[in-house]
Amino acid sequence: MGTMKLPRFLPTFLLALVTALTLFSTVAPGFETENRAIESLGPAPRDADGRFTNWTGTSSHGGLGVRFPFFLRRIGGIFRSRPGFPTRVENDGAFLRENSLHSTPTVTWVGHATLLIQMDHVTFLTDPIWSDSPSPISFAGPRRYVEPGIAIEDLPKIDFVVISHNHYDHLDLPTLRTLAERNPETRFLVPLGNADLLKKNKIDRVEEFDWGESTTLGDITIHCLPSRHWSKRSLRDDRKALWSSWAVQSPKRKFYFSGDTGYFKGFSRIGEAMGPFDLVAVPIGAYEPTEMMKESHMNPEEAVRAAIDLGAKRAIAIHFGTFDLSDEPVAEPPARFLAAAEDSGLTLDASWVFQIGETRPF
Ligand code: ZN
Ligand code: ZN
Repeated sequence: MGTMKLPRFLPTFLLALVTALTLFSTVAPGFETENRAIESLGPAPRDADGRFTNWTGTSSHGGLGVRFPFFLRRIGGIFRSRPGFPTRVENDGAFLRENSLHSTPTVTWVGHATLLIQMDHVTFLTDPIWSDSPSPISFAGPRRYVEPGIAIEDLPKIDFVVISHNHYDHLDLPTLRTLAERNPETRFLVPLGNADLLKKNKIDRVEEFDWGESTTLGDITIHCLPSRHWSKRSLRDDRKALWSSWAVQSPKRKFYFSGDTGYFKGFSRIGEAMGPFDLVAVPIGAYEPTEMMKESHMNPEEAVRAAIDLGAKRAIAIHFGTFDLSDEPVAEPPARFLAAAEDSGLTLDASWVFQIGETRPF
């Protein structure tokens, strides 16, 4: 029996085939697995009556015995001085407008939960509020301690806005209208059930998402993700609109914005699905009285734990020092956040407490 002669190119061909299969099996399925893990974080659970709820059920906000005196103290707060709010640095926006062109990754704290982020040639805002008071009746609502860190007219061109939920300190219609008028191209990304409110207010480029859903802008992907909170804007609309956190992912970088949230296992699930993150924004204020707040807001120690669960390389503290919303002393959240970060091994270098208006590269 004669031996069959193998073609000379066969070894090279086989080597190329094995290399291609190895690359494919490590890159492509990894990407697929990540997408499946993100999708598995949704959809958001609903009650029998169709209202949205949390993985842990509906958050309690304490009994009337806690809530009524709290609201009296809030009204009293209009006349009381509360020292200890953050300092403000003047930010004229010149660097940020110029930076839109080459896009050094930056984060700017405008105040409260409003961040301006630039990364990989996109510029976006989280929960933008420039109004003086987060309330339907602004003269009676909570006071703003510190002016926004940058004037709205000094902003660079905004590609998109992510909104976490409909509470007045996060969904501020006057600000959203101004942003939409300034740039009709700006996309407004909201959790389910919030688009109608924006459309009624002439903000037409609005897109709704459930938890686990995503959209893209060039090579950037924006993911709508779970949080543990609630929603309400009027007397009877409790939990009819969804709340969420958001992640923004480019081929080079990952950013996470938690919105308002209680501590929950979602952080470790999101960390497993998508982590590590180059930067996460965690809320550290509005945790007193505990009976009212603990199931829908984090205290500073929980915010540090959340950042660790998410696999944060850096964590920026938000949702404090801007509006008179809760009982804890104004200066307490950032002090406790830094102490907890140091104790936990997140480290002081990786835990950022900004002045309002401050910009840092990340
Ligand atoms: Zn809220
Ligand atoms: Zn809030």
